[in-house]
Amino acid sequence: MTFEPATRPARSSGRRAPEPRPAPAPRPRLLDAALVVVGLGFGATVGSAIIVETASQLQAPGGVAMFLGNLTGMAGTYLALVMVLLVSRIPHIERILGQDGLLRWHRRLSPWPISLIVAHAILLTYAYAEASHSGLLAQLASFVSSYSGMLIAIVGLGLMVLAAVLSIYSVRRRLRRETWWAIHLGMYLALALAFSHELALGPSFVGHPVTQVLWSVAWAATAGVVLAYRFGLPAYRTLRYRLKVVEVRRETEDVVSLILEGRDLDRLAVSGGQFFEWRFLTPKLWWQAHPYSLSARPKPPYLRLTVKAVGDHSSALAELAPGTRVAIEGPYGAFTTHARRRQKAAIICGGIGITAARALLEDLPKKSDPAVLWRVSTEEHAALAGEVEELVRRRRGTLHVVAGNREEVSLHRVARLVPDLRQRDVFVCGPEGFVEATRQVLAGEGVPPEAVHYEVYAL
Ligand SMILES: Cc1cc2nc3c(=O)[nH]c(=O)nc-3n(C[C@H](O)[C@H](O)[C@H](O)COP(=O)(O)OP(=O)(O)OC[C@H]3O[C@@H](n4cnc5c(N)ncnc54)[C@H](O)[C@@H]3O)c2cc1C
Repeated sequence: MTFEPATRPARSSGRRAPEPRPAPAPRPRLLDAALVVVGLGFGATVGSAIIVETASQLQAPGGVAMFLGNLTGMAGTYLALVMVLLVSRIPHIERILGQDGLLRWHRRLSPWPISLIVAHAILLTYAYAEASHSGLLAQLASFVSSYSGMLIAIVGLGLMVLAAVLSIYSVRRRLRRETWWAIHLGMYLALALAFSHELALGPSFVGHPVTQVLWSVAWAATAGVVLAYRFGLPAYRTLRYRLKVVEVRRETEDVVSLILEGRDLDRLAVSGGQFFEWRFLTPKLWWQAHPYSLSARPKPPYLRLTVKAVGDHSSALAELAPGTRVAIEGPYGAFTTHARRRQKAAIICGGIGITAARALLEDLPKKSDPAVLWRVSTEEHAALAGEVEELVRRRRGTLHVVAGNREEVSLHRVARLVPDLRQRDVFVCGPEGFVEATRQVLAGEGVPPEAVHYEVYAL
């Protein structure tokens, strides 16, 4: 089964086309090692705030608040660094947790650094006001007017609080991806401001060159990791594989497939179910990168993605001209056959979630008897249906395409179409609401959480 562009049929040199390499298997021990390092770093950071404190400083007016303020500041900025590392896309960690897993950890952790840094600001204002026998507002004014470095700290804190407020789910889901991005760039600036503020005024650093050096190394290493994995590696891969659009193929009324051509794609290690952040280099689109899964395993020299038009970016892709250059970031995602623990698999997907499911199917062994449940709004919206049917048939599996809107199609009924669901790994993919509802149904059906692997098509 192939997806080569209609205009350029497969080259028939007589030689077999090179097979693409699968993504390397995740190594969960690396995650344990990373957790130990992060834990030790946290201990050292908190320790450095404790050992600089003396009994007489604690007994002075505002002394306890001063100590707690320094402690919360150190702990908060350290945890902010960990948050940055969680989204820096270190490949070895990303392969274990997947990008959505990393984002979940990032979100779960996020209230801590923000609360600790806000507590730091309040406690220190209180402590200084106590020591100078002034009010809180007068102390705040004195900070701004008399302490160099304090204004930038206040600006940094403001940016952090803004990002935190906009990260609340009900606010975030109304934002466009680009707005979301801009806010997060502001967060990097806030952290840079916090770093220089700490070195200039932090009791753990002023007069302590060793902690200054260690702290600077930790921050520089974090910045290095972000630059390497978020900018360096994508730039290298983009230049190496030189992807360009060769065909835009309409699949259904609102879905198109993009076929891209590149060089050395047999060296690109990617598994079915993974995705890239794609940046199409046209005057209108070059500045935004969006995640789309591969809708088939690579067939060097070609790749394919299949996109449903839901907003400005996804709709614009139907108009791309052949020859458009494409920059990539990835591959990302742990939604691959590496996640399997059982002999048999079931795949449950909603709508355009079929893209990752379709590529994943290709990686499942022949005769693996996959059970595929695919919910679509109408049969006409079932993009790539013929290919999915063929892949399932070759693996001696079963395919149930269930048409109807959310209200009409009960997921419970859908889940019962696979009687041995509990004995299978279950891969779930699609829009957020669909994945969440399916996970709940699977839990209710007695499928253990470790057998459920999912990819959510949402921010
Ligand atoms: C890991 C991953 C893999 C993905 N793979 C694919 C893929 O293979 N094919 C594909 O078509 N999409 C895929 N998506 C979804 C795709 O990234 C978004 O649909 C796209 O980025 C939306 O950008 P936009 O500018 O067109 O819409 P936006 O302007 O960002 O959004 C427009 C409106 O559509 C809503 N919306 C956004 N995404 C979805 C969605 N998926 N379903 C329903 N409503 C949505 C938004 O909430 C908003 O109201 C994937 C997403 C992720 C996270």
